[in-house]
Amino acid sequence: MRILHACVFTVLALACGLQADAARRMDVSTGKAAANTTTGRLELVWGDPGEAAKASEGPGARFQVTLVDDAGRRHALDPDQALRAADDLYALYGRRIAVSTTTTAAKTGGRALRVIDAIVPIDDLASSRTRAGFGTRALVQGGEKITGVTSWVTLMCKFSDIATEQKTLSFFQSQYGTAIGQLDHYWQEVSYGQINLAGSMAYGWADLPQPRSVYVTKDAAGKDKADLSKLFTDCVAAHDANVDFAVNGGVQGVNMMFNGDLDGYAWGGGRCATLDGVNKCWSTTWNPPWSFGNLAPLSHEMGHAYGLPHANNSDADSDPYDNPWDVMSDAWNNAVGNATYGSLPKHINVYSRNRLGWVATARKRTIGAGAGAASVTMDRISLPGSANTQMLILNYPEQSTRYYTVEVRKRTGSYENRLAGDAVIIHEVLTSRGEPAWSMDADKPAANRANNEGSMFKVGETWISPDYAFRVKVESATTEGFVVTVRPTPRLSRPGQSVQASASPKPASAATPASELGAPSDGSARDTGRLGERR
Ligand SMILES: [Zn+2]
Repeated sequence: MRILHACVFTVLALACGLQADAARRMDVSTGKAAANTTTGRLELVWGDPGEAAKASEGPGARFQVTLVDDAGRRHALDPDQALRAADDLYALYGRRIAVSTTTTAAKTGGRALRVIDAIVPIDDLASSRTRAGFGTRALVQGGEKITGVTSWVTLMCKFSDIATEQKTLSFFQSQYGTAIGQLDHYWQEVSYGQINLAGSMAYGWADLPQPRSVYVTKDAAGKDKADLSKLFTDCVAAHDANVDFAVNGGVQGVNMMFNGDLDGYAWGGGRCATLDGVNKCWSTTWNPPWSFGNLAPLSHEMGHAYGLPHANNSDADSDPYDNPWDVMSDAWNNAVGNATYGSLPKHINVYSRNRLGWVATARKRTIGAGAGAASVTMDRISLPGSANTQMLILNYPEQSTRYYTVEVRKRTGSYENRLAGDAVIIHEVLTSRGEPAWSMDADKPAANRANNEGSMFKVGETWISPDYAFRVKVESATTEGFVVTVRPTPRLSRPGQSVQASASPKPASAATPASELGAPSDGSARDTGRLGERR
């Protein structure tokens, strides 16, 4: 792992290979384990259950991590190991990576164990920019900034044994429109006009060569399993004669609409493949009728396809769909309805916006643990052209993989006006967690769904971080947001004192007994007067 990291930092590919080779031989000589390095591109795909799948299988998401090597071979990676090994796996979405694994020799009668040691980027995005103005790629916050024209193609595909055509070609074409409730309008609004979907095209129902039963089979546990590879290959092939995937250097993505249920899930993420001579990782979604009939789940899948993981609340259950402030979590609740396009997508949280490079530097403010008090005027995150702060980052100077984000959400506009309230919303971000951003909740235990009062911080209320490093108070309301103050919590933040960060992913995990601090026992708490300003 150390060797691999050193290679990347020195950017000497040849030396890197030699060192890795030496390491491998060294490991073999010990007779204990063999190290291996495989390079290729990282493909991430998320599966989201519909109502029936939630009822039968539970509320969890499916998640597949695949390394596609330069010969096009696909290597499945264990998702939990991959998340741990990369520190920030999602920042590597679609990029060239090196995966270092160690295979431990099998004991008598046992199986060899293959463990992922490290996953590191080996690309240089700055030198691989596509033409100006079209889907420009660049590094931002360790991930990829997406700006400019992001054209999609909708491919409508029919199973050979299903005749129903749920929607027409004109419906799918109109989904890409620039009016309220249409995808180009939505993604322009969410990105502050930094991306648009100009040139996106839908292509009418084409026949797949096989019945649904060939594409949806059973896994070892007897659950339905969609063959995403075959669905992609056959659906693309059915349309290939009519579609120019290579236009402008390659379209951003492919939305596939199937006229029958898949495995109970809708899927979104990346697909690394060569289409019309262009080899890249294409933003890709696989949609059953319940998904394409509502813009909210379709936008959720497109969010995955742009590289976004799930958002979550902080109740620590297995359901990542219980944060209704975010289309990348609970797309259905607190959503605006539309007669033509079904449930509309609400916005994405500021962590996700920043991940895609859409939050201007001037709209961001970072306050480190141990810093003095600060007053910050914040505008709602949905406001275009704001002159105030829209993303407040509370971080720890010695850590890059853990921080908090503070944002303002208001019930206004075409997509956000059914939110639970007007409030400051705070997320804890751990970049190596399956859902990096969890909304904070003052209620203990955290509410099952984060549209509760405890998740909304309003005028007069204070949130205190579980490790007492930060105290955020909402002081007053403005036309477009709130004024907040950030202070270190008294007694724990004397000058020069380092703040001990909690390693636990659970927010209510203050290490020091509450009685010593005079603080609420739950750590992450709303101020009810016990932690008054006079202390
Ligand atoms: Zn999802």
